[in-house]
Amino acid sequence: GRRALVAGVADDGGFGFAIAKSLAEAGAKVCVGTWPPALGIFQTLLRRGKMDASRKFADGSLLEFEKIYPLDAAFDTLESAPAEVRENKRYKELGDFSIAGLAAQLKSDFGEQPLDIVVHSLANGPEVKKPLLETSRAGYLEAVGVSAYSMVSMVANFAPLMKKDGSFVSLTYMASERVIPGYGGGMSSAKAALESDTRVLAYEAGRKYGVRVNTISAGPWASRAASAIGI
Ligand code: NAD
Repeated sequence: GRRALVAGVADDGGFGFAIAKSLAEAGAKVCVGTWPPALGIFQTLLRRGKMDASRKFADGSLLEFEKIYPLDAAFDTLESAPAEVRENKRYKELGDFSIAGLAAQLKSDFGEQPLDIVVHSLANGPEVKKPLLETSRAGYLEAVGVSAYSMVSMVANFAPLMKKDGSFVSLTYMASERVIPGYGGGMSSAKAALESDTRVLAYEAGRKYGVRVNTISAGPWASRAASAIGI
C-alpha cells in the first residue's frame, strides 16, 4: 500500500481533508500534519465523533488517519522557531513541530523511505484582508514564507523520504495570474512564487530524487481559510 502525508488538515472543511479522504478511500495510508494552534480542537472533534459524517466512505466505514503530526510550516527546524513560539502553551508539549522535525519523526515511525505522496494544502497570510498597496513588509514576507517557501522546504526535507516516482502536489489559486481584489496581503505574490517554484522544484528534485512536483489551481471553495476573506 501507499502512504501519503497531507500537510494542512485541521478540520473537515478544506481541500486537505477532502484529498486525504480520497487518498484513503483509494487504499492509501494517510498521515496528516496539523498546525499546532488548531491541533487540540481538531483531535477533540475527531474523538467526540463530530466529524463522523464527513469521515464516512461510500461503504459506510470511517476515514482513519494513520497519524496526526503537529506541523508549523513556518519553521524548517525547531531551532529556527523563536522562544515565544516554542514556549507557547499550544506548542511546548508537542516536540519538534518543524518541517525537519516531521521528516525525522516519519523516519523513526516508518523507516527510511516511508512516503509515496506528499500534499501541501496550507497557506497563511496575516494581512490577507489588506490590499497589496497597504501590506507591510512583515505581512508580505510571512505570507510568502508560510505559503510558498514551506513547499520548497517540504520538498527538500521529504524528497529523500520518498519512494521512487513519488509525487508532491500543492494547491494554488488564480490570483497569482489575474487580479482578484480581496486576495491581498501578499497572498497573490505567494501563489505566483509557489507556481514558479513548482517548475524549478520539479526540474531539480526530479533529477535529484526522481520525484514529481505539481500544483493544482483550485477553484474558490468556502473553507475556513477562504471564508475569512470572502473569496
Ligand atoms: P484550510 O483552512 O482547510 O487549509 C489551510 C490550512 O493551513 C489550515 O488547516 C491551517 O491550519 C493551515 N496552516 C496555516 N498556517 C500554517 C502553518 N504555519 N503551518 C502549518 N499549517 C498551517 O483551507 P483551504 O482553502 O482548503 O486551503 C488549502 C490550500 O488550498 C491552501 O494552499 C489554499 O491557498 C489553497 N486554495 C484554496 C482555495 C479556496 O478557495 N479555498 C482556492 C485555491 C487554492
